[in-house]
Amino acid sequence: MQRFQHYIDGAFHDGAQAFDSIDPATGAVWAKMPAAAPEDVDRAVAAAARAFADPDWALMPATQRGKLLMRLADLIADNAPRLAELETRDTGKIIRETSAQIAYVAEYYRYYAGLADKIEGAHLPIDKPDMEVWLRREPIGVVAAVVPWNSQLFLSAVKIGPALAAGCTVVLKASEDGPAPMLEFARIFDQAGFPRGVLNVLTGGPDVGAALTSHRDVDHIAFTGGPGTARHIVRNSAENLASTSLELGGKSPFIVFEDADLESAVNAQVSGIFAATGQSCVAGSRLVVQRSIKDAFLARLKEKAESVVIGSPQDMATEVGPLCTLRQRDVAMDLIERSVAQGARLITGGTVPEGPGHFFPPTILDCSDARDAPSLSNEFFGPVLSVVDFETEEEALAIANDTQFGLASGLFTQNLTRAHRMMRGIRAGIVWVNTYRAVSPIAPFGGHGLSGHGREGGIEAAMEYTRVKAVWLRTSDEPIPDPFVMR
Ligand code: NAD
Repeated sequence: MQRFQHYIDGAFHDGAQAFDSIDPATGAVWAKMPAAAPEDVDRAVAAAARAFADPDWALMPATQRGKLLMRLADLIADNAPRLAELETRDTGKIIRETSAQIAYVAEYYRYYAGLADKIEGAHLPIDKPDMEVWLRREPIGVVAAVVPWNSQLFLSAVKIGPALAAGCTVVLKASEDGPAPMLEFARIFDQAGFPRGVLNVLTGGPDVGAALTSHRDVDHIAFTGGPGTARHIVRNSAENLASTSLELGGKSPFIVFEDADLESAVNAQVSGIFAATGQSCVAGSRLVVQRSIKDAFLARLKEKAESVVIGSPQDMATEVGPLCTLRQRDVAMDLIERSVAQGARLITGGTVPEGPGHFFPPTILDCSDARDAPSLSNEFFGPVLSVVDFETEEEALAIANDTQFGLASGLFTQNLTRAHRMMRGIRAGIVWVNTYRAVSPIAPFGGHGLSGHGREGGIEAAMEYTRVKAVWLRTSDEPIPDPFVMR
């Protein structure tokens, strides 16, 4: 059985306790993971705080930080196959996707490597002739990063990359479900040559996350996970009023008008909800389809859903693998049963297959006659698509925006003016027009409402890890005038 360790202050340690990690494809225990105790969290935060103040890091030129990040990117690219295999083993995410995604994760580190020495301050044209004022953009300090199990290498890259580019130090808590890829990532990070303590990686459950995010020496919390957990995180941040960036879930609308290229729209919808076995925060989980094409569209979608290759996540031919945890399957079954009881029509899927592992089939539920069905408002985090139809553009927009979430959205139409109107009206952080689930290190990513706040990716993400200091310099040699009047 494989054993993994924490990475604290540049060294590898066993946890105070250990827990079993399950292979979701078989349901069998395959590895022992360390579990952090409060003392481990303290040691990791202390190491990050020391590293933040240490001249080796604090005074390192930004260009040099960029070079270290570039070395890390190269190491990730070299080790991508091994990292992909581990992520697939520990989380059940299919190898086809982990292989492609982890190779691309290296590009995120390259992007932030290049950005490190372009995070600039400013000189202000101040309204006083005897003053020079400029802004320094300084690193925010010690960052607590907390990630969920899905796409951990990716979700941590969009935190570690900009945080280190800005000059911060990081303590990352990997998810207790499938932490192997992050603990292995720590071994790769160790080879890149950063000063010790700049990054620390540990794992464990909610208690470890709570100890880290309420720690008084943490300056910023970067969290990805569910909105319920985010509420705890915000309360924890009140301990020392740490700032937060929150990337939460979604119930993203996928809107198809009758003039859309249907082949493209069907393929994008399949990618939007069945890829990653639906375990994606940007899953296009609400199909909002124009009534005139609904039957034809659903017929094509059903055919695709039923011909998807379900199997071992380690097999390159597999398109849909197991869910990471059994908990998710219970959530999916409960939401489906309650929605059907309210009048939703099950078009395909919806039953747990026989045999080992956490498998669940691609499922389509038509909720057009059950518009209050819980499947339309709750995130499944599984391959379940809820459908609702519309007649007019106004109706489509109202349905799309009828959610407390606001992360992503998809829009399929050939009508340019309508695309512009819809794009303006949709309340979401991302609008994909005639495409879906495209990402890039250059483009910011994030939402509003229950989908959180703050941005990951792009220059915006680096700004989350900085604060501005205004420096005033008086240039006059005359004595300071009237000291009782503010200047
Ligand atoms: P989760 O919120 O249960 O857990 C996320 C992380 O928070 C885990 O590491 C967990 O240990 C930790 N945690 C739990 N309780 C905590 C507490 N009280 N204090 C501090 N940390 C705590 O999420 P999950 O079920 O593992 O992941 C699925 C969720 O993540 C979904 O809602 C999904 O949409 C969201 N997600 C969002 C994005 C995005 O970028 N917007 C990406 C992926 C996943």
